[in-house]
Amino acid sequence: MILLIRSEQLRVLADETRKALGMESCGIMLGILGDAAAEVEEIVPARNRLKSESEFEIDPEDLLRAIERGESESRDLVGFYHSHPSSSLPSPVDEEHMVLWPRKVWVMVSRSSLVLRAYRVISGEIEEVDIQISRGRLEKAGPLSDRTAPPPSSSPGASRPARASVGPRTRRW
Ligand SMILES: [Zn+2]
Repeated sequence: MILLIRSEQLRVLADETRKALGMESCGIMLGILGDAAAEVEEIVPARNRLKSESEFEIDPEDLLRAIERGESESRDLVGFYHSHPSSSLPSPVDEEHMVLWPRKVWVMVSRSSLVLRAYRVISGEIEEVDIQISRGRLEKAGPLSDRTAPPPSSSPGASRPARASVGPRTRRW
């Protein structure tokens, strides 16, 4: 899967991550969510309800407001982003939450390197999503070929493989 994102939006993610001193930054991505590709149209920063530097929980009010606005503008909830102190790989806690939001794209930003990676859970498995800089608007019915994301490369500080089976815990909501 490909995640199309504009360079201005990457800058917003980097700025939000830098600004959230001593805290994980987090937020919502609205846009177009397809099976083979997604496009971020808007980054909606949210409050981290846990005010923690190693954990996050998107403030439920901020989440609801973003989802409702997306619905009123016919935009999909593409997924979520949050920062980590150093790694941009999903933590075990992230994986537990990702399973609850199948198909949504989770972007993780490393605060130390500002490297970002994206993942999603599909058919109960975590897969890396290929991030590409977008120039134009993705048409909903556009001819998008199905692509397989390359395997995640190793990252300094990574203590566990990124592509991990999450087993039969998949839940639909
Ligand atoms: Zn995380």
